[in-house]
Amino acid sequence: MKTGQFGPCGLYCGACGAEDCHGCRSGLIDDHVKTCEFRHCAKDKSLEACCFCADYPCPRLADFMNDKWPHHWSMSPNLQFIQEHGIQVWLERQALEWSCTACGAPTHWYQKNCTCGEGLRAWELPA
Ligand code: SF4
Ligand code: SF4
Ligand SMILES: [Zn+2]
Repeated sequence: MKTGQFGPCGLYCGACGAEDCHGCRSGLIDDHVKTCEFRHCAKDKSLEACCFCADYPCPRLADFMNDKWPHHWSMSPNLQFIQEHGIQVWLERQALEWSCTACGAPTHWYQKNCTCGEGLRAWELPA
């Protein structure tokens, strides 16, 4: 269970499969999160999300959003949704989107089958 549900970058941590991290804003984060420049940058600017930054999208964030990872491609539409509807509505939508329609368990970006056996619409890991 993730206690920190999202990153300021627009990633929904609730659908991240990393087991050694409870979410970008939680008390248990992995080394990648500890050193993430976006996380530190948004915190320094007291911003909940990068879409509220005057420099959004800064070049390094734009590069990150367009690298080989499909979950990074969700950041720009996520931040656009947050800008239009707010973080709370977005989190509610994400929780629904990333849960099993059969049993309601949370699911991950690259998870092909739920623990209940239901097939899931998962993204493909990059080659
Ligand atoms: S990329 Fe950085 S800001 Fe985004 S969820 Fe990961 S650690 Fe947090
Ligand atoms: S400069 Fe703005 S858009 Fe870029 S990481 Fe920092 S807060 Fe986010
Ligand atoms: Zn299920």
